[in-house]
Amino acid sequence: MKYVELDGALGEGGGQILRTALSLSMVTGKSLHIVNIRAKRPKPGLLRQHLTAIHASQRICNAQVAGDTPASTELEFKPGKITPGSYSFAVGTAGSGTLVLQTILPPLLLAASESDIALEGGTHNAFAPPFDFLAESFLPVINGMGPCVTATLDRPGFYPAGGGRFNAHITPCSALKPFDIVDRGETVERSAVIMTSGLPLSIAERERAVLHKRLDWPMESLAIRDVRSSIGPGNAVVAKVRSVGVTAIFTSFGEKGRGAEAVAESACNQVRRYLSAGAPIDEHLADQLLIPLALCGAGRFRAQSLTQHAMTNMDVIARFLELKFQIQRHADQTHTVAIST
Ligand code: ATP
Repeated sequence: MKYVELDGALGEGGGQILRTALSLSMVTGKSLHIVNIRAKRPKPGLLRQHLTAIHASQRICNAQVAGDTPASTELEFKPGKITPGSYSFAVGTAGSGTLVLQTILPPLLLAASESDIALEGGTHNAFAPPFDFLAESFLPVINGMGPCVTATLDRPGFYPAGGGRFNAHITPCSALKPFDIVDRGETVERSAVIMTSGLPLSIAERERAVLHKRLDWPMESLAIRDVRSSIGPGNAVVAKVRSVGVTAIFTSFGEKGRGAEAVAESACNQVRRYLSAGAPIDEHLADQLLIPLALCGAGRFRAQSLTQHAMTNMDVIARFLELKFQIQRHADQTHTVAIST
């Protein structure tokens, strides 16, 4: 069928349903009609981040679009020809730029020539992949599939000021190669970067002390980065576990009324849960690898857990592509996800 009708209230009922649908509409050439967009979110309908993803997708494939207005809960999207090239997109708020890039990436990974994408918006947002996650965890898996995507951060953008900037250069490939990530392999690096902007240095120092104590990671592996270039204040604790098979990134964000110790504790808890689970793929990377896995039509990964976000994403993907995800649940509660066509 050259037409997909979607109910945005499906499963988790969030913005990922729209973003995944846009990506796959572009890749497959199938038109999309979606209703009840973000029906299960406190403020349903399109926000700036979603509108930017729609308009970025529209430019990439010269789509005909209707319903692309703030708070709209219905969208028609008729894709045209994919046109790789140089593009700039700005979210205009602190809304996540990395989610916009992930929306347009699938068609550009398989396009006829290279692309350069400049993005402005949030780069370090709660509830979205932080830039470090994109560059160090997500993209290395994508690059292992054949394309070459490099991302460089010009300026971080924190909530609420936004104004971050980054670039992505995409060298596509003709067909994606499968990945098989079921074991983590030896861990070769454990480290963290504590980012602060416009805040007292003591906040970062308190966070570093918690990481050192709770994770028993040496002080030399815990860097403090004062990012003066950002246009508003911000604080993020970014912890990295790099293993032979994959790099996992865990982020916790400072916010008003949340003590530095609590921010660092949250990052430590994420790291400890990951290390004790034994699976190579954390819950966020798991939902983000579903589109690449499906486009490849082969491959598998073992995930620490599968969220409702991931389950909903599988449902949406299956609406566009003729395939089934196979999920094997292991005794230790980890899951192996594979594809059968
Ligand atoms: P929206 O808020 O637009 O309705 P949504 O609710 O569908 O979107 P979320 O569930 O908030 O979206 O997640 C968006 C994406 O961001 C998911 O792919 C999720 O894995 C990813 N994400 C959220 N937090 C992190 C994090 N700390 N690290 C990496 N990725 C993250």
